[in-house]
Amino acid sequence: MNNKKSIGFIGLGIMGKPMAKNILKAGYKLAVFNRTKSKMAELTAAGAYSCKNYKEVADKAEIIITMLPNSPEVKEVINRLLLHLKSGTIIIDMSSIAPLVSREIAVRLQEKSVEFLDAPVSGGEPGAVAGTLAIMVGGEEAVFKTCLPVLQCVGKNVVHMGPVGSGGFTKLVNQIIVALNIAAVGEAFSLAQKAGLDVQRVYEAIRGGLAGSRVLDAKAPLIFSRRFQPGFKLKLHRKDLNNALQTSGDLHVELPSTIAVQKMIDSLCENGKAELDHSAIVQYFEQLSQVEIKAG
Ligand code: NDP
Repeated sequence: MNNKKSIGFIGLGIMGKPMAKNILKAGYKLAVFNRTKSKMAELTAAGAYSCKNYKEVADKAEIIITMLPNSPEVKEVINRLLLHLKSGTIIIDMSSIAPLVSREIAVRLQEKSVEFLDAPVSGGEPGAVAGTLAIMVGGEEAVFKTCLPVLQCVGKNVVHMGPVGSGGFTKLVNQIIVALNIAAVGEAFSLAQKAGLDVQRVYEAIRGGLAGSRVLDAKAPLIFSRRFQPGFKLKLHRKDLNNALQTSGDLHVELPSTIAVQKMIDSLCENGKAELDHSAIVQYFEQLSQVEIKAG
């Protein structure tokens, strides 16, 4: 007998669709819902149940996962679910949102005896497809333990960080480091290109040393071959840095480098690049120095 919990999944975008597929592959009963209904077809073909509305998700699932852009969308979807949720249901929000909003949501859900985890992820679309995402989780330890087998279907490194909001704070740390890293790659490789160096050889020379990074390994091949289709959209990284900067005000912490990179991302987004992969941060430096970072 299959005694696994029944799962609902809302938000079948770049990340949500492969994550939902991995849950299905692991043998869970899965009910999906997506605002654009056509995106549910692939999951239905793979054996998931396509819900007609939020009520149906609430009726069918013991654990509901959301994978949406940002805080306003998560709040909107939770509001629509709220009327229909049964007590004892668990909601895991795996979107990257403002941690203080996660805390507000948890309080509202508690009034209906619904548990909440914030569990944002890192690892991008390839990690979502492979089921190897890093997952940083905030919430009650007992709820975390109940959900761990499900989270392990989509991620390899699943870490309980503390109370609700801790997952989101950890994700902000992650996003600051990634954005600043890509900016460093853009700045340094503009210099390499202008100096007449072969950027591929520069990459090979430095990647084993202290300047090497996961960001460099993941993004250098894409940048050198001028492939900027997402992946992780620049507008989503803009959203994450906005959340980090808002949070920094609440925590009285200064983030000068984050502010600088945020201004670069704002300028790129205002110039039509919001839908490109976040590796397009390098294009800000290219424009400044009138250079294109390119192999060969
Ligand atoms: P996408 O834009 O590809 O998908 C967003 C999903 O949210 C879609 O299913 C969309 O539905 C749904 N949605 C948007 N607005 C609403 C709304 N108002 N009501 C209901 N549904 C809505 O985003 P990603 O999958 O790339 O990202 C999702 C989250 O994961 C974000 O928080 C992002 O920061 C985070 N993330 C993304 C990574 C990446 O590499 N892409 C890596 C790590 C984290 P519809 O199909 O109708 O548009």
